[in-house]
Amino acid sequence: MKSKIIQEDIKTIAEELRPVADKLSGKTLLITGGAGFIGNYLLLTIDFLNKNVLKKPCRVISVDNFITGLSYQIKESPTFKAIKHDIKNPLKIDEDIDYIIHAAGIGSPKFYRIYKIETIDVGVLGTKNALELAKEKNVKSFMFFSSSEVYGDPDPRFVPTPEDYNGNVSCTGPRSNYDESKRLGEALCVAYHEMHNIPVKMVRPFNVYGPGMRLDDYRVLPNFVSNMFKGNPLPVYGDGRQTRTFCYITDAMVGFLKVFLSDLNKESFNVGNEKGEISMAGLGNLISEIFDNKIEVKNTAGLNDAYGKSDPKRRCPDLTKIRTKLGYNPKVNLKTGIQRFIQWAAEEHNLKSPLISPKLEKSV
Ligand code: UDP
Repeated sequence: MKSKIIQEDIKTIAEELRPVADKLSGKTLLITGGAGFIGNYLLLTIDFLNKNVLKKPCRVISVDNFITGLSYQIKESPTFKAIKHDIKNPLKIDEDIDYIIHAAGIGSPKFYRIYKIETIDVGVLGTKNALELAKEKNVKSFMFFSSSEVYGDPDPRFVPTPEDYNGNVSCTGPRSNYDESKRLGEALCVAYHEMHNIPVKMVRPFNVYGPGMRLDDYRVLPNFVSNMFKGNPLPVYGDGRQTRTFCYITDAMVGFLKVFLSDLNKESFNVGNEKGEISMAGLGNLISEIFDNKIEVKNTAGLNDAYGKSDPKRRCPDLTKIRTKLGYNPKVNLKTGIQRFIQWAAEEHNLKSPLISPKLEKSV
């Protein structure tokens, strides 16, 4: 792994986790979706913990079908095994497994509107198969990557949104295949806890971003950045008044792993950053400002039917639960995170723009 930015990120994550990481010493962890953005950060984090923190290494098995995941950033070794498998089909593993993280999923609205049924399959059948494996192996912890989309387009009275808000979700709309499969995934986790005592946890990420995201992911930050490098205006969908909050990957990973290594079973946790709720027009302007307003921001129609009328108007987490129960405290502000992301993208993809290097070197 050559990226200096990612190396720094992994060190930051591992240092924050030092007090709880010991649980993984000498254990085997299975992750689904290990070849994705979040999966790769997890694999790199465990690799770093193995080399620097844990008394005995944690062995990791990753399962991925590469439908949207691209590749692994670590090589196969005695502590890392990769299996190509679609988790919508039952998974047979001969060895013992101590921990499972079900991170496979199709999170980008661009791709979940292309792979409509696969999205439901991984959220529902994939979750059930992962839970069956957890039952067979009698795991110590099981974590499901749900989504802030379980809240749909929340009633403004429930923004910032706490975990006990039940959501405002269409079961037939353009986002329904993603949202409802995540909701049923959580319901499956709860049922397996109640019927089989599986120590399940669910996390609901709020617009997590950072280095390692595909630039052709089409979610807003990678899409803005890839357009910027092409010299195009930043495409703001609709009137641009819809808001999001963004959580840099280091903060998100610490939140996810604190939940995973806790004993708070049958619980769902928001993971995000409640500071800096910003409209998409504002986000375009923020990126433009980083480059002395030399980048144009342009309103345009949404890419597909998941935008426009189906675009949630506001999204911001209430983080009281994870802050009070687990001491979670996101630290990276939006501007710093975006600068790290842009610098990583420039280095990784050897992208050049007259606007980029001098500005970023000063500020990152
Ligand atoms: N968006 C945008 N331009 C883009 C991509 C997205 O203005 O190139 C907007 C989109 O309308 C939405 C927000 O950015 O309001 C976040 O979209 P994204 O696809 O990142 O994920 P979502 O939070 O909607 O699942």
